[in-house]
Amino acid sequence: MNLSLELKKRFGYSSFRKGQEDIIRSVLNQQDTVAMLPTGTGKSLCYQLPGYLLDGHVLIISPLLSLMQDQVEQMKVMGEKRVIALNSFLPFTERRTALEQLHKYKFIFISPEMVMNKSVLTSLMTLKIELFVIDEAHCISQWGPDFRPDYLKLGELKGKIGNPTTLALTATATEEVREDIQEVLQMEHAVEMVYSVDRGNIGLFVEKVSGQNDKLNSLLEYVSAWGGPGIVYFSSKRMAEDVALWLSENGVSGVAHYHGGMEQEERILIQQQFLSGKLRMICATSAFGMGVNKEDIRFVIHFHFPSSIEAFLQEIGRAGRDGNNSVSVVLYSEQDLSLPLQLIQSELPEDDQIHGFIEGWTKGHSKDLIQQLQLTDVQYRFLTYYTEELTGGRGHNQDRLLEKVKQIRNNRLQYKKEKLNTMVHWLKDGTCRRQKLLHYFNERHEEENPFCCDVCGYSPKEFKSESFTLNSQDQEPANWEKRLEKLLLG
Ligand code: ADP
Repeated sequence: MNLSLELKKRFGYSSFRKGQEDIIRSVLNQQDTVAMLPTGTGKSLCYQLPGYLLDGHVLIISPLLSLMQDQVEQMKVMGEKRVIALNSFLPFTERRTALEQLHKYKFIFISPEMVMNKSVLTSLMTLKIELFVIDEAHCISQWGPDFRPDYLKLGELKGKIGNPTTLALTATATEEVREDIQEVLQMEHAVEMVYSVDRGNIGLFVEKVSGQNDKLNSLLEYVSAWGGPGIVYFSSKRMAEDVALWLSENGVSGVAHYHGGMEQEERILIQQQFLSGKLRMICATSAFGMGVNKEDIRFVIHFHFPSSIEAFLQEIGRAGRDGNNSVSVVLYSEQDLSLPLQLIQSELPEDDQIHGFIEGWTKGHSKDLIQQLQLTDVQYRFLTYYTEELTGGRGHNQDRLLEKVKQIRNNRLQYKKEKLNTMVHWLKDGTCRRQKLLHYFNERHEEENPFCCDVCGYSPKEFKSESFTLNSQDQEPANWEKRLEKLLLG
């Protein structure tokens, strides 16, 4: 089959990007496939094109609601009407109608939580699903930093929907994680297609600063010199807001903040302004980025470093998708080292939350416990999954259950601390940074690269982005402008 012709016809692209054609051929040959492609290289095409060439439906598991909505919107913009997202955004009545008419949709996106819902499963079982896609498949692995217990049920689901060809997609998965993916998804003779995580056009720079003021000054110097577009990552919502404001007070125009605590409309607004060049820079938490397809991001600065190498690669991978030179800078001081540790700890439930949860759960009040015990989404999912898994609907000894859940929590904490240590070592180490990053994924760094890293002599001071002019022609309604102004000024 001439796939290039199909690519041109369906998507208007003249050639495949690295890896795409091999992955698509593998899937069309009904071969279970684990594919690892760097962020932004076009993983979506690897299931979209086969979808058009197969008779049956394509079921896509996607972990983030915002990512799912973006993917669906993008497909609709490309003219595909037979696409739907089944998630908690969909009001109940619409969901019921959607389920009754599921056979009309070629591409069905769904969250891992919803897929095991009885009525959803019943509808899915009536369909001929030919391709089962797991996006961000590293969430399957307990050895991945983004582990999502709900993903563990996907192997069981695969059997229930008739064992379709399975495609697991990820941008970051160590060998250990890839093995886990195959085991959980029961991919017995899967082929692995792994492409380098190296992004040679992104220079890597780490700058140790003496404290907060020093850090702010460096940041101001860089962003004033570079213009944009760029992203500055923070691990605190407050800091993202405060620094965005501080930068605009210090002469940097077109800066806004973005984090998960903002209203959804505000977030969409900021994202759109950034995409269309009306903003030059976003001060954000890790909530910003997935599904943001902006090719010309010139810099990613970490005001706070992330808690794993995997997260770091995902975040810097948003720069330079157009292939032009870009830069990653991490600004860190000794005081920063304790912050990610606190974050890791706060993601998992505390002892008293575990006690409270198990007690309440035994009495059948699990939903009320979210408020009562002030559980975050992640903590609640963790507790529900393991409590159900460990008891399996059978009677149980409460003390033993408690100990087991605590033990799982401790193991997970320990594991996350190790990931964080690797990240910190990377920052402090005196050897080539690119080499170390690649080594982590069992790759070797072979090519000479003038944009390698600070250890190899690269300096971001040499980096020049093309002059960036804010797109002031605004066709958006006036009230958007006003709201943006309010946001920018805090
Ligand atoms: P990711 O790997 O991060 O999931 P996406 O699938 O969202 O990346 O694709 C990133 C961008 O690349 C999209 O805008 C998509 O349209 C574009 N793209 C994908 N494949 C090609 C191709 N073969 N030629 C040109 N552009 C492509």
